[in-house]
Amino acid sequence: MINKVIDHMMIENRQHFMIPGDVVASVSEENSLRHAFLVLTKVRYAKIPVLDRDDRLKGLVSLPMITNTMLGLDDLNIAPLDQLCVRDVMETEVVTIRDPYDVENVLHLLVDNPFLPVVSDDGTFTGIVTRREVMKGINYIGHNLDKAYTVTPKVEVEQLK
Ligand code: AMP
Repeated sequence: MINKVIDHMMIENRQHFMIPGDVVASVSEENSLRHAFLVLTKVRYAKIPVLDRDDRLKGLVSLPMITNTMLGLDDLNIAPLDQLCVRDVMETEVVTIRDPYDVENVLHLLVDNPFLPVVSDDGTFTGIVTRREVMKGINYIGHNLDKAYTVTPKVEVEQLK
């Protein structure tokens, strides 16, 4: 169980953790691999969300998922970029969270996932929570904990070194 004070301070900052959907780079499941290749190369993110026409989250796509289709025996073949669409290569087993999300659960999930898509009850994509934003929250707590709380070590601080 996470410490109540830490949980409270994280919750105070919770809204800052989520990058809203309208500023998250994404592609449509119907886009060609060529389009997704260009977007991923341009934005430089390792993986981005895939949405349907109604903004529902359908999966995630990365450059390796795309370039894997181009591998020939000893050469690259770019034809699949126009023959396949994002839906054909995206990963669909995606760990998602609902808003408002449980901070402790988010901390656990971010151990294995660099970001977590946030979806509403009907599956609509509303944004992402990234390790980077949560790290900022932890940094904030590290700098502000003793401004709002009295922290008394159970052992001498010298012994903590
Ligand atoms: P960060 O913790 O900021 O390094 O982000 C971790 C991952 O989240 C990135 O590698 C991307 O896959 C994804 N990500 C972060 N910000 C965005 C964004 N604005 N649009 C799309 N994906 C993002």
